Amino acid sequence: MAKIIVFNNDTDRMETYYRDEQDPMPYNTNGTLRVREFRGSSKSNILWTTKRTMQSWNSQRYVFGAPIPVGFAFKRPYEGGHGNQSQHYAGTAFDVGQRLSQSERRRLWNSANDSGIWYYVEPISLTPTWVHFDKRFRKTCM
Ligand SMILES: [Zn+2]
Repeated sequence: MAKIIVFNNDTDRMETYYRDEQDPMPYNTNGTLRVREFRGSSKSNILWTTKRTMQSWNSQRYVFGAPIPVGFAFKRPYEGGHGNQSQHYAGTAFDVGQRLSQSERRRLWNSANDSGIWYYVEPISLTPTWVHFDKRFRKTCM
């Protein structure tokens, strides 16, 4: 059971949810993002994200039109990871597509980059075996 804190961008309020690992994340549609996928290897009992991030995921999944395997989204600062970490600590970033073929991963990267859904899609040169996209509030918060 995870405690999930969601910042609701529409009401400017924090919302608290309790979910099992196999449950969909709050605001997720069609079960395309489970709690265990969002957390990846994080051992944290408390996870957090924003409503806007979850809605962006729903849109990305719809635009891509196929399942998106999730490596992880959420991390705590002491749990390591790759270079562009602060957005993962904020629960607003995804590292996905690790298990896709190279051509499917490229298609996913293109769909994320072309969709206008995300604030930032990390260049392919920096993410050779995954796709990083995030919904950061500001460019300067990295
Ligand atoms: Zn990332």
